[in-house]
Amino acid sequence: MDIGSIFLILGILVLVVLYVSQPFVQRKATVVSLEEHEFSALLAERDRILNALQELDFDFTLGKIPEDSYATQRADMLQRGAETLRQIDLFQSEAGDGSVGARLEAAIQSRRAESQPVEGAPDPDDELEALIANRRRARNGKSGGFCSQCGNAIQRSDRFCPKCGHPLA
Ligand SMILES: [Zn+2]
Repeated sequence: MDIGSIFLILGILVLVVLYVSQPFVQRKATVVSLEEHEFSALLAERDRILNALQELDFDFTLGKIPEDSYATQRADMLQRGAETLRQIDLFQSEAGDGSVGARLEAAIQSRRAESQPVEGAPDPDDELEALIANRRRARNGKSGGFCSQCGNAIQRSDRFCPKCGHPLA
């Protein structure tokens, strides 16, 4: 065999390897975007639970819900919220190091956290309560009282009433 045909065979081999490995590369990209999708779904779920909790609190202050069902509903939501937060944490800890070892380690950590809460670790319930308090503060901060003309609720940033157009001081 002369040197020319050896190079030819090598060249064909390289092309074959590239062709064969292509689906694997593509599949990996699909997996990554799937994970991103899952992550944004988790974030949406967290927001959904936070909204539901706020609504529940609001309904309770209005006296729409009896106290015992309020307590059970709230505990149920907090539990789901805590689980979502834990999954989000898991995703974020994976983001830095995507190796299988790190993933396993993260999974083991989460199992361990489930069976015995680590002392000093932030309580997911507290984290949820803090998020709710934050939102409430943000909403109160933006509120600018009511329109003197029509009584519509206005935001501090409004220069005119969004309902009747009355100029606001
Ligand atoms: Zn008005």
